[in-house]
Amino acid sequence: MRDDAAGFADMTDLPAGLRTRLAADFRLRALEVVSSTPSRDGSTSKLLLRTHDGNLIESVSIHEGRGEFDGSTPSGGRLRQQLRPGATVRHRHTACISSQIGCAMACQFCASGLDGVVRNLAAVEIVEQLLLLRRLHGPVSNVVFMGMGEPMANFEQVAGAITTLCGDDIGLSARRVTVSTVGVVPGIRRLVDLGLPVGLAVSLHAPDDALRARLVPSARSWSVAAILAAADAYAAQAKRTVTYEYVLLDGVNDGEDEGQRLGELLRGRPAKVNLIPYNPVPDLAATFQRPSRSRVARFRAALQRYGVPTTIRTAKGDEVAAACGQLRRRSLD
Ligand code: SAH
Repeated sequence: MRDDAAGFADMTDLPAGLRTRLAADFRLRALEVVSSTPSRDGSTSKLLLRTHDGNLIESVSIHEGRGEFDGSTPSGGRLRQQLRPGATVRHRHTACISSQIGCAMACQFCASGLDGVVRNLAAVEIVEQLLLLRRLHGPVSNVVFMGMGEPMANFEQVAGAITTLCGDDIGLSARRVTVSTVGVVPGIRRLVDLGLPVGLAVSLHAPDDALRARLVPSARSWSVAAILAAADAYAAQAKRTVTYEYVLLDGVNDGEDEGQRLGELLRGRPAKVNLIPYNPVPDLAATFQRPSRSRVARFRAALQRYGVPTTIRTAKGDEVAAACGQLRRRSLD
């Protein structure tokens, strides 16, 4: 069977009668596409998917770069500064996939946790998100577990899915798969046992336990120090730099002081930071705001003074609600 067959009807190597009987009695796919919404520039698409038991999940397709740089691409100024015309820019197609229906972690700024967790996704439901994104939007080069859910709260199924994604049939390199966790220390330790050098991203969001506990309720179980120790151990084992995600919330955790303390914390560690200016969640409008560009720049500069590599995640797909459980919520309403 072609693994991207849309249904039994596509299996033209089977007799027509058998195809009809199969379609009547069995389902080929664990997930059904409810909608696929592209962003205005077409680089990002958000998929809303329905599970066999009628729940909704989200996956996002993100295209970046292009195959060949001809010196005049709209993808822009930055590339132009780094590369001579004619140089090749690797095209990246990232599948951002979900590990749970909803989320139990209740991070204060995140839409996925507003209604709690419904259930864990099965490994097949996780893998199929990639198969669907691939069929609709082309070959996938990278996978990030940054959709709905906390991967470490569904470790067995996530591990099974990763094993399949990196197996012979799909053939992704473990180096192109990233698991993002709110900081579940036992999960980070178990990731070592998986024996595949997947990337680890840790959602830190604060340089100390007190501020972190306000934003991330699950922080009460694991201190910043314990998370960093587990992440350092993983980095050493997997021989990989850990990415620390930090959502910037205006006036809450985005001061120069916090930037400096984060720098002190991560200095000399196998770490890089991905700053994510807050994506407004309609239901949380009154609670948090996205900081101004200049505040983001000051925070970044504070970190860089400590030699910590820092990138700012550009908001892609805002208008398709391609952030963090928002589309599902809108559909549930
Ligand atoms: N449970 C995993 C995956 C979550 S989604 C984790 O916590 O890492 C990936 C990232 O998006 C996390 O860092 C999460 O904190 C962040 N995020 C959630 N809601 C957001 C919002 N409204 N704006 C910006 N980033 C958000």
